[in-house]
Amino acid sequence: MTISAVNGDYDAVVIGGGPAGSSAAIGLARHGYRALLLERREFPRFHIGESMLPYMSGLLRRKGFHSRLEQCGFPVKHGAEFTNEKGQKIRVDFGALAPARQPWTFQVERSRLDQAMLQWAREMGTTVLEEANVNDVLMDNGRISALRYERDGETFEVRAPYVIDASGRAGKLAHRFGLRKTNEHLRMVAIYRHYTGLDESMNPGYAGDIQIGGGSEGWLWAIPIASDKISVGAVVPREQLRSRTADEIFSEYSARFPRVAQRLRGTRPLTELRMETDYCYYADQVTGPGWLMAGDSGCFADPVFSAGVFLAMTTGFEAADAIDRIRQGGTGTEEAVLDHYARFYKTGYDTYFRIIYAYYDSKFNFKDYLKRVAPGIDIEWTTRILSGDFWSMNNPIGNMLRDEPRWDTFSPFERVRVCPVYPELDTAESARPWSESAGSAPMEPTGSTEPAGTAR
Ligand SMILES: Cc1cc2nc3c(=O)[nH]c(=O)nc-3n(C[C@H](O)[C@H](O)[C@H](O)COP(=O)(O)OP(=O)(O)OC[C@H]3O[C@@H](n4cnc5c(N)ncnc54)[C@H](O)[C@@H]3O)c2cc1C
Repeated sequence: MTISAVNGDYDAVVIGGGPAGSSAAIGLARHGYRALLLERREFPRFHIGESMLPYMSGLLRRKGFHSRLEQCGFPVKHGAEFTNEKGQKIRVDFGALAPARQPWTFQVERSRLDQAMLQWAREMGTTVLEEANVNDVLMDNGRISALRYERDGETFEVRAPYVIDASGRAGKLAHRFGLRKTNEHLRMVAIYRHYTGLDESMNPGYAGDIQIGGGSEGWLWAIPIASDKISVGAVVPREQLRSRTADEIFSEYSARFPRVAQRLRGTRPLTELRMETDYCYYADQVTGPGWLMAGDSGCFADPVFSAGVFLAMTTGFEAADAIDRIRQGGTGTEEAVLDHYARFYKTGYDTYFRIIYAYYDSKFNFKDYLKRVAPGIDIEWTTRILSGDFWSMNNPIGNMLRDEPRWDTFSPFERVRVCPVYPELDTAESARPWSESAGSAPMEPTGSTEPAGTAR
């Protein structure tokens, strides 16, 4: 085998060009570092994960990318509708975040979002190679000494002091180092496809909202990703595949929730059925000498509350900041900086996992959980936690969720308490008791027309 050495004097190599990889590369470029990003696919490419969170918009606004996202023309998402088999519903209206925090975001076609982000990374000065598959990680004295990748049938070897693994579910480093652990509690499968012919005037709720149908053993998403396209997916326990085909499960689920079925009237399948099995996992170690995992490469939690892309971008940018702190700080700081990054990473994913557990443990009804543990809690806190408020220690719901030891994902770790999206607001708020930090409206569904007590 002939191996060509790549001499680019790179400060870091990023594996993967999804939201985590692009964010990491953009972050590195902003700090003035030279990065090589290796992506095994050719873009644009299909990817699932289409509903965004308002905090993701807040993050991209902070980073200076939101105006470009606005130019993509994606459907605007102002809220999330939770519905059931009886046709009842409750709506989370992001309006409760205003005026301090951005009260809306987008639903996206990932092929276009990811391509736009990768293009941004290129414009910032990152060397991006598509169809470059990283297939080997070489070690020397406990550090990664080089990455080998294949492109156009040739093998290349690249060396750099730092590697950010943003390879998503492929988890290049997690597998190489045997770090990935399966989440035994959430053994679900997702079965999904896109439909065309969407007419949002059929939607009995709010145009642009995600709909989440909660059944007795699983749930369904409906996400409009363009003016005429909608993504629909069923998430059910994996064992259901023993007695029924994916096709049967999907057909039954997509017709099960009257408000979703109404929205889908007149649509027709655009893509084949796709399936994701065994999708919840984590790693207790997400950093090591000279390497960091960002996004899905280290952890993946059920997508019901749409946080995957937000967490991927947040950890991608943060991984770049960590490398900068190490480079600025001289010898001896690497371990401390990586430890801080790992705790930051885990705080975000841990909080998100807890929201999922509360939803699943309350039989796919988050409101029931809140009714039990925090009756009368301010709607702003609920809206905030469902919008991406995963790091703040001001949010009483986040704190209650963290008090549930049965929902621990990682081995014990010290949390990082700084919100990466609104750190200034967070600091100002933490000076006040939480009961004074938000308005005083009781916990009721904003924008719902249902009589009290009937909505889920
Ligand atoms: C069924 C389902 C529904 C979801 N719904 C949502 C949702 O509504 N909202 C949301 O925010 N999130 C959702 N997610 C999660 C979301 O898709 C992910 O969290 C997000 O894509 C993570 O971004 P990432 O950059 O870490 O990984 P990815 O987006 O997967 O990017 C990783 C990239 O690495 C590349 N790569 C892999 N291996 C290599 C290699 N060896 N060499 C080079 N390149 C490589 C891949 O080709 C890929 O482009 C969903 C996920 C699933 C499974």
